[in-house]
Amino acid sequence: MSSLTSPVTGQAHMWRGIIEEYRDRMPVSETTPIVTLREGGTPLIHSEYLSELTGCEVHLKFDGSNPTGSFKDRGMTMAISKAKEAGAEAVICASTGNTSAAAAAYAAKAGMTAGVIVPKGKIALGKLAQALVHGAKVIQIDGNFDQALTICRELADTEPVELVNSVNPYRIDGQRSGAWEVVDQLGRAPDVHVMPVGNAGNITAYWRGYREYHADKIIDQLPVMRGYQAAGAAPIVLGAKVDKPETIATAIRIGNPASWQWAVEAAEESGGSIRAVTDPQIMAAFRLVARHGVFAEMASSASIAGLLELKERGDLEPGQTVVCVLTGHGLKDPEWAISDSDEPVTIPPEAEAAAIELGLR
Ligand SMILES: *Cc1c(COP(=O)(O)O)cnc(C)c1O
Repeated sequence: MSSLTSPVTGQAHMWRGIIEEYRDRMPVSETTPIVTLREGGTPLIHSEYLSELTGCEVHLKFDGSNPTGSFKDRGMTMAISKAKEAGAEAVICASTGNTSAAAAAYAAKAGMTAGVIVPKGKIALGKLAQALVHGAKVIQIDGNFDQALTICRELADTEPVELVNSVNPYRIDGQRSGAWEVVDQLGRAPDVHVMPVGNAGNITAYWRGYREYHADKIIDQLPVMRGYQAAGAAPIVLGAKVDKPETIATAIRIGNPASWQWAVEAAEESGGSIRAVTDPQIMAAFRLVARHGVFAEMASSASIAGLLELKERGDLEPGQTVVCVLTGHGLKDPEWAISDSDEPVTIPPEAEAAAIELGLR
């Protein structure tokens, strides 16, 4: 086990990863080999801009600052640790990109092999690079995420591989840590919790996390859960599977969420909702948060688009504490960031020219 304090100063609390930090809430024993990259402990960032815009206190839970750049690390440390404990030598997953990045990294840390099946041409370059650099076997299919997941479930049934998609219950177990961190950082539960919904594992995990803290009397109220799908991939909103999901937010481009019923339960039990935001709304939100200092990936921005939608509908009360989860890092897919910016100008290597170009003279 890693130490709590600096061996030099004896003071700083070095974050040990979510399993060690929340060990008594995790399904591990003394002998479970903990495979960690010290995930979690991500910043909760107060947004002055969004607070002013909405009349609420808005905080951004930036899970893009996890080791592989998305919240998937929270679940993967659990899934890979348990797979290792069970003696597995190989893991497999279907992915829109971030699950494969996390699976590849944690499998590599554990000395296991990872196979990932992804929809061809629909994976952000950064995510593909991650899977490859960590040595995963990457297979593309002429199909979508839902079909990739079907293949993986079949392989896990018939072959000696462990499935590490969020249908693996340990993934959800690990991801509950997001809710606990939010409470630990805020000192209370938020009034409203806003997040993107794809395969719906994360909203399931957050709701479980909040409910457990509530049952243990760590918090005395529960947040209203507001989940947002992309309009072109909104099966829960439509109440029917979507055969050809389409959205620029590829991480939530999912037509048949594995945790569908739990997402609905989270929304209903909390007095919340699962709604949809359009690609233009998501894009505008992506640019808005970036202009205020946080570079989150496109799918993450659905929670900001959702926040603005809640405001517009009159579903927020003044002064409420709101947490928006930013699930992944914008650097995963820099193309969106530069797509509507002009190329930087080129000047002679002189301060005067720079001063003129900057409008300082
Ligand atoms: C996986 C992912 C989502 C969707 O999470 P689900 O648990 O599938 O609902 C959202 N944003 C990002 C960045 C992701 O990687």
